[in-house]
Amino acid sequence: MQTSTPATGRVYLVGAGPGDPELLTLRAVRLLEKADVVVYDNLVSPGVLDFVPATAERIYAGKRRNEHTLRQEQINALLVKLALQGKQVVRLKGGDPFIFGRGGEEMQTLAGSGVDFEVVPGVTAASGVSSYAGIPLTHRDYAQCCMFVTGHLKDGSADLDWPSLVRLNQTVVIYMGLNGLPEICQQLVAHGALPSLPIAVVQDGSMKSQKVVTGTLADMAQKVAQAGLKSPCLTIIGEVVKLHDELDWFKANA
Ligand code: SAH
Repeated sequence: MQTSTPATGRVYLVGAGPGDPELLTLRAVRLLEKADVVVYDNLVSPGVLDFVPATAERIYAGKRRNEHTLRQEQINALLVKLALQGKQVVRLKGGDPFIFGRGGEEMQTLAGSGVDFEVVPGVTAASGVSSYAGIPLTHRDYAQCCMFVTGHLKDGSADLDWPSLVRLNQTVVIYMGLNGLPEICQQLVAHGALPSLPIAVVQDGSMKSQKVVTGTLADMAQKVAQAGLKSPCLTIIGEVVKLHDELDWFKANA
């Protein structure tokens, strides 16, 4: 009896961008088209999943706040298992896999298990969402630097390096900061930011359902609550937010 050696499997950690499938890279589309199995997160939009061929297996790995469908260790083990079966595995993550995506941890497990892998960058929310909201992250008149931070912390409260966030001439982009928004605004003012500093919260950036709410550190928590914004939301803080009215090109729901 002849036994055939299975082809070597490989895991492709692919960034899916912020939602609009037009923002996928060519590499992402080509890999999706030849995948045997696609393991995807909650933030991957339906339009992106349309590129997964009907023949490929789809596995939802979840990860909404407080609702982890598969634990991180289970996802890591699953990727190793599928690759060892000889499969071409696409691990699809919202935005860029190396920016607040735990992609590094997943690749460490693969490296430790001797599994081949490749990383395909994607358009991260800061970049994609700010573009579709018409808010340049830097601008010669307003910001010469930009920081990306996460507003979600393990014990449910935001424990950020506040003094570094209130410096002048910079833009701060907060991922996963919707729940902590009232505290974030209060802390920034307590650490010296002007209550009139402009801030925007963008829900579903780059998608038809995109909503942009702008205000100031003083009134934003109330405005966001009134607008009933839901995850995913990206927060952008800084003078650049003033440009939104002038540069708002994307017509959501159009
Ligand atoms: N790896 C992803 C980020 C994952 S963390 C990336 O590079 O974009 C998840 C957070 O990203 C969300 O809580 C939200 O703050 C932000 N985010 C991702 N997609 C978004 C979208 N379309 N609109 C608004 N925020 C988004």
